[in-house]
Amino acid sequence: MSKSLPERSLRPATLLVRGGTNRSNHDETSEALFLTSGFVYDNAEQAEATFAGTATHFQYSRFGNPTVAMLEARLAALEGAEACRCTATGMAAVHAALLSHLKTGDRVVASRALFGSCHWIISTLLPRYGITGEFVDGADMAQWEAALSRPAALVLLETPSNPMLELVDLPAVAALAKKAGAIVVVDNVFATPLLQKPLTLGADVVVYSCTKHMDGQGRVLGGAVLGSKKWVEEVLQPFIRNTGPSISPFNAWVVLKGLETLHLRVHAMCRSASAIADFLAERVEVQRALYPYSARHPQYALAQRLMSGGGTVVTFDLAGGKDAAFRFCNALKLIDVSNNLGDSKSMVTHPATTTHMRIGAEERARLGISDGTIRLSVGLEDVADLIDDLAEALDAAGEAVARAAE
Ligand SMILES: *Cc1c(COP(=O)(O)O)cnc(C)c1O
Repeated sequence: MSKSLPERSLRPATLLVRGGTNRSNHDETSEALFLTSGFVYDNAEQAEATFAGTATHFQYSRFGNPTVAMLEARLAALEGAEACRCTATGMAAVHAALLSHLKTGDRVVASRALFGSCHWIISTLLPRYGITGEFVDGADMAQWEAALSRPAALVLLETPSNPMLELVDLPAVAALAKKAGAIVVVDNVFATPLLQKPLTLGADVVVYSCTKHMDGQGRVLGGAVLGSKKWVEEVLQPFIRNTGPSISPFNAWVVLKGLETLHLRVHAMCRSASAIADFLAERVEVQRALYPYSARHPQYALAQRLMSGGGTVVTFDLAGGKDAAFRFCNALKLIDVSNNLGDSKSMVTHPATTTHMRIGAEERARLGISDGTIRLSVGLEDVADLIDDLAEALDAAGEAVARAAE
């Protein structure tokens, strides 16, 4: 049996190491990996009572598993949420949060700057079931006001957004959503649970891709949905139980162990990202460098109000469009070209030709994504080595810009 944690409230770094730990009768130090699909009962009566809900016992890993339960308890403690359910991927988390809540005839309002697959669910999947979606520019409160002047069932937003790091005034949108009868679902991947607390800013539900910073070492996929006990148990849990987007206990265990260092990793990445944003802003090849905690960010004041750190991603525009962007990416010797983020390895992606290729040029222009836009996920390498690599690659891109201008 685990001794229980102290009654007083514990700080995030402590919760990430200790929260949710539930030792087996072997008193192991590290959280146990229960790699089992099912569970056995002492007798038929216990099975009956478990299914009737009068006895507490694990039944089947699609519904619940001790390792997954530890991850859920740790994430709930960190987020300050009453309940959490983990899923196989971040997209399974978004899908479950939306589909468990919505029904035919409902209306969804969302910020336009969403992760590509979230955009697809609202624009393409939900209309098949008679659920309409309306997109607004997340930074424009007048558009939120207009869209939420009519009844809505759900608001989905991402802040800061991928890849342009645009922020949404969450408390203001949450107030409008409440009047419209909508629950607010926030995709908090870019901020991580350490830098922004959506539930304290008016959100009802928070979703994560655990694939990103929580694993943070590029190994497994995972997702999480957090909210009130009532919503999770009555709305979300029946959907997960019966449709099966459940996370593998092995992947849950990897994420659980990843969380132990989340605090150290995210804060180190933020420090490096901030230094890199300052470095990039000084370079002539860079038209603009966006980082929420940089005073140059157009929503710097809002970032200071909503977030306790600027995050681990820097997005910047290179003069010279796609040619310069590709030369830059190809000249990097240390930083990888990859579309993942939140990893200990730094990586760049060219959104216009990868993550945001399918949305088309018009929508990219609306989101502010140009052919010279680069998204940099800052990892854990020494920041001086990262800056050396960026400087050399900018020199290479700069030559292309100069040649194009001749
Ligand atoms: C990666 C990501 C997702 C999807 O998560 P997966 O684990 O890849 O399914 C959703 N939203 C944001 C903001 C992401 O970065």
